[in-house]
Amino acid sequence: MARLYNRKVKAKPGYFGDFGGRFVPETLVEPLRALTAAYATAKRDPSFNKELAAELRDFVGRPTPLTFARRLSAELGVKLYLKREDLAHTGAHKINNTVGQALLAKRMGKTKLIAETGAGQHGVATAAAAARYGLSCAVYMGTEDMRRQAPNVDRMRLLGATVVPVESGTRTLKDATSEALRVWSSTSRDTHYVLGSALGPHPYPSMVRDFQSVIGKEARKQILSAAGRLPYEIVACVGGGSNAIGIFSGFAKDARVRLTGVEAGGRGIKSGLHAARFSGGRPGVLHGTYTYLLQDKDGQVLNTHSVSAGLDYPAVGPEHAELKIRGRARYVYATDNEAVAALKILCRKEGILPALESAHALAYVLRERRRFPKGSVVLVNLSGRGDKDVVSVARREGVEL
Ligand SMILES: *Cc1c(COP(=O)(O)O)cnc(C)c1O
Repeated sequence: MARLYNRKVKAKPGYFGDFGGRFVPETLVEPLRALTAAYATAKRDPSFNKELAAELRDFVGRPTPLTFARRLSAELGVKLYLKREDLAHTGAHKINNTVGQALLAKRMGKTKLIAETGAGQHGVATAAAAARYGLSCAVYMGTEDMRRQAPNVDRMRLLGATVVPVESGTRTLKDATSEALRVWSSTSRDTHYVLGSALGPHPYPSMVRDFQSVIGKEARKQILSAAGRLPYEIVACVGGGSNAIGIFSGFAKDARVRLTGVEAGGRGIKSGLHAARFSGGRPGVLHGTYTYLLQDKDGQVLNTHSVSAGLDYPAVGPEHAELKIRGRARYVYATDNEAVAALKILCRKEGILPALESAHALAYVLRERRRFPKGSVVLVNLSGRGDKDVVSVARREGVEL
């Protein structure tokens, strides 16, 4: 099977090898075509790029720092560096993408943003960008997620967004995404759909990667300056894959740099309660893109589980599928327990409370510490901060906050 993919990568627009594409109903073809054209023009327009760069600096707080994890490095025998997306405005990398898409929407003359959200991080980042640029905002969210992530529902409302409850399916991210796509197909005249990861139909996977590529561009400069060399390995957690593709893209041409994506192993692959698409899935179509997907033998999309809501989604971005098939990146997983343990270790050793999502990347480094040559430079993308996870971590320990 893998042989099939080893032929020279096709340059079909919207595809990454055999993955990606635009598998959507008729009603979405035109809005996606218009978006693709508008983005292609904006991308080449110096005034758009200048405005985006200024907003990333003044509103988002970029560049985010690169922090040398001094105590953990000594313990692990590697030089561990953390790219601090947790310090970006609203607490994660998501804002890089929502600011980019909101500016694009404004340029296209749209007055309204809609978005899907699971944990609420993307919803908050979209609401913040909408407020900043004077756009109205509606965020679709499964009612199960609204219950689990109540503080983020309140944050979105404070930022002026309407949170629209989604009652279908398992009432989680997958259902919210389906609903947002459906709503967009009849409202695209004045509305832009801000998709939150490097997923979905073309042009989203490449557009979101581009907006997140600022992480990799900054990190490459910063690591060369701080460590005096390129990293031995770069590690990032993979939900839809936007923070990972953002940092990987900065090192795509550095063939010797190992790229590792860490998925949510949940309670273990055998339990079936996980979101490790590369360990338990196979190619199929979800939300308009052909990619690795957790599905049963009839192609029904499976339910997923992770302690971190941001990794809890049945499909992975199509560019990651291609990176895996090509052997350019490898994909592993960390379990719920490993991620929680890693979160605590980073708190105590470095004074940084990471998001549970990001803790998956760190958990892999801790578990596989012997894999790294002594003294090698390891770069972990700390995709977000863990303030949102304090209650769920405490609950796991039996403490009610
Ligand atoms: C949403 C989120 C993720 C997962 O999304 P990707 O698109 O895979 O990056 C990871 N970390 C944090 C902190 C998030 O909020």
